[in-house]
Formats: sequence, structure tokens, C-alpha cells
Amino acid sequence: MRKRNTVLILGILAFALMIIAQVIIIRRGWKQVDEMIYHRYRSLSQEANAALRGSRSMVFDTVSYLLDYYTEDIVKELAQTTDDQQLENIKSDIFDYFSTALNTEQDLSLYLSEYFANQDAENEFSHRIIITNLEILGEDTLLVYRDPAFRERRTSRDSEGLAYSLKGSTSSILVTRPWLVGNNYAVNFDYYIDFTFKRSMILKELSASLGLSIFSIVIVVIIFLYTYRNLMEERRLSELKTDFINNMTHELKTPLATITVAGKTLEMEKIRHDESKILDTAKLIGKQSVHLNQLINMILEISMWERTEFQLDKKKVDIEEIMNDIVTSFRTGCGDCASLMEKYTFKGAKADIDLVYFTTLINNLLSNAVKYCDKEPVINIEGDADDNNISIKITDNGIGINKSDQKHIFDKFYRAGSGNIHKYKGLGLGLYYVKKIATAHGGDVTVSSKPGKGSIFTVRIPN
Ligand code: ADP
Repeated sequence: MRKRNTVLILGILAFALMIIAQVIIIRRGWKQVDEMIYHRYRSLSQEANAALRGSRSMVFDTVSYLLDYYTEDIVKELAQTTDDQQLENIKSDIFDYFSTALNTEQDLSLYLSEYFANQDAENEFSHRIIITNLEILGEDTLLVYRDPAFRERRTSRDSEGLAYSLKGSTSSILVTRPWLVGNNYAVNFDYYIDFTFKRSMILKELSASLGLSIFSIVIVVIIFLYTYRNLMEERRLSELKTDFINNMTHELKTPLATITVAGKTLEMEKIRHDESKILDTAKLIGKQSVHLNQLINMILEISMWERTEFQLDKKKVDIEEIMNDIVTSFRTGCGDCASLMEKYTFKGAKADIDLVYFTTLINNLLSNAVKYCDKEPVINIEGDADDNNISIKITDNGIGINKSDQKHIFDKFYRAGSGNIHKYKGLGLGLYYVKKIATAHGGDVTVSSKPGKGSIFTVRIPN
């Protein structure tokens, strides 16, 4: 159990480390592609801006006209304003109007979009205009708004006067910092672009490495689960083998001990003159030797099955007749150990079976029904036949089998509640035999059971 947990924890740890490594790699890749896109579009917008020189006013024609028209009235309104509060309100209105007009009525975005498209570049972007200085030029100049860093930024403008980036940001690209001077106003502003689909652009660029990462994670998980399952299966088999050896030793020791004691008894002086006692002891030795022989044969046979195909010597037989024979000899063999009730509707069906193996199959099921019972055993044996199959159902009133054991009882060496070897003797081979024989006949065997209520084993053989 501890080893299993360690393997699991190590696996999860390795998996987590791998995920972390992949995330770091992808994040780094993401940042690189992000920067690459930023630099590409930054230089593209610089080129576009340079190409626009000379005809720059063209892209702001409409908005310039609108602003001239608007400020004409404003200048008049300002001339009549004396109240400070009213002046502040007008300033705020002017700022809003300029901001909206510049953002909606310029044609620079259209121009850039066409320029990008001609260069086979992504042209779905959004723009942002941020006013940095706004003055109304009436009789006196009225400063409506000034960005506190305006002057500083103007002096730091590079000789090209073109694209700047917002410091530390790779999402917005500063394309240009134009100024417009109309009849009644002067305005300076920054024009930024943002790529709406930048995320999908990056994803597209990274799709190959992302796909590879996910693929490698999935492969590692599959390999881990597969290895873990194999490891657990190996452990289970090795535990079953150990249980088997313990049970086997116990099973072999019992007849051997009886034979040794019987041998010692025969050596005794007073026994040697009592013929009936000698006969009884000899019978006992004989019986135990047969049992010992059966055990050894069983193991030899199992190891032979492992190496060679199952060889059946099949004959067509009347199944009802055979069932009657098997049950009758079981009843006498076990000395009426159970009440066996038979109910057959085979309708004269003939089955193609190996008599010896089939008898072993039914005997194993019947002896289990007797063995795993803690009261008077009552066993119902039902038989039925249709056009395709013969089915035999053996129902007992025994201790039953819980759900988790039901999955394994047909496995080699498996014993339910395997610690309990002394209460019910066995090697965990009986049902393994049953399954092997049924499948060798082209059929199968199933179980349904409730602990404390009993079990039903159903064997199906093709008709
Ligand atoms: P064995 O009887 O030698 O242990 P089997 O292969 O015949 O081996 O059975 C495997 C296990 O299935 C048994 O250990 C027992 O726990 C369970 N089992 C089999 N038949 C019955 C039954 N009729 N009722 C309850 N448990 C059963």
C-alpha cells in the first residue's frame, strides 16, 4: 500500500513539474510572439506614417472642418461668459466634443487599415486618441486642457517624430502625435492603435508548439497510467501467488500429516493384531493419497494449460441425462451434504461437450455451493435450452460474494477474503477451472450474488 502511494505521489509530482515547465515555456513563447507582433506593427505604422507625410492634413480634413465650425460658436459663447463655474462647464464640454470628434471623424484609421491590408498584415485594430493639449484661440487664448507631461513629452520626441510606445506596454502602439491648428483652436493629441485580435494572432503563431505541448502531456499521462496499472497488476499477481503458496502448503500438509500419523499407528504393536483397525488405517492412507494425488494433478494440469492450448475430447450427449448423472454422483459422493433440487427444461437438447471437463465444471460449482455455506445448504439446479444455448443455473443459500470480489473470483489463485484461509479451505483454482472449461467450450460463466443471501452461477454452453 505504501509503495503504491509513493508511486502515485511521485507520478503526480513529475506530472505537476512537467505542467509547470510547459507553462513556463508557453508563457515565454507568448511573450516573444507578443513582442514580435508589437515590433512588426510598430514599424509598419512608422512606414505608413512616413508615407503619409505631406498629405497628413488629408486624413484630418473632416474633423478640422467640424472643429472650426464648432469653435466659432464657442468663441462667441466665451465672450459672453463671466461666471467662473460656467467657464469650467464650457471647458469640460469643449474637451468632450474635441475628444469625440477626433476619435470618430478622423480618417487615419481607414488609411492605416488599407496600408496594413496592402502589406498582407492584420488590419482589424481599434484606435484611441488622447488629447494632450487643447487651446481655444479667441481674443485671449483659453487653455482648456494640458497633460502635465505635455512639454516634457514634446521635447523627448525623436527626430522622426513618429511612433512611440506607451512605456512598458506592448499592447498599445503609439502611431503618431499630430497637432491641428484651426481658426479658433490648437489641439495636440496622441494616436494609438490596439490589436483587437492580438490574442488569436498569438495563438495562431503558437499553435504548433501549443499542440505539441498538449500532445506530449497527454502521451506522458497515458504512459504513466499504463505503467501504474501494470505495476499494480504485477503486485496483485505476486500477492495472489504468495497466498496460493501458503494455501497450497496448508492443503498438502493436511493429508501428509494424516498419512504420517497413520503410518506411525500401523507400527504400533497393539494395532498390528487388530485386522479391522489395520484395514481402516490403510483405507485412510489410501483416501489421503488420492486427495494428495488430486492436488498435485490439479497443479500440474494448470501449469500445462499455461503452456498448451486446452484440448477437449467433445461428444454429442443428452445434457439432461448427463446432468442427472453428475448430480446423483455428487449427492452420494458428499454423503447427502446438501439438499439439491433439480429443475430441467432442456427439451431433449444435445450438447457437444467434453464429459470429463464438463463434470469437473459442475462439480466445482456444486462443491463451492456446499463449502461456502454457513447453514444447511439448499442448492437449486436449473437447466434450460434454446436454439442457440444451453444454460445451467446453480443457486445456493451460502455466504455470498461482495461486489468487489465478484470481479476477480474467476482469476487464477484468487480467494475472496484471502486472509481467511483456515475457515474455508481452497487454492483459488476451482472457479478459474470453471471459467477455462466454459470458454474452451465456446461458452461462458457469470455470477450474481449478495453477501449473506447466496450466489447464482450461470453457465452457458453453445447448443
Ligand atoms: P477456492 O474455493 O479454492 O478458494 P474458487 O476458485 O473455487 O477457489 O473460488 C474463489 C473464491 O470465490 C472463493 O475463495 C470464495 O471466496 C468465492 N466463492 C466461490 N464460490 C462461492 C459460493 N458459491 N459462495 C460464496 N463464495 C464463493
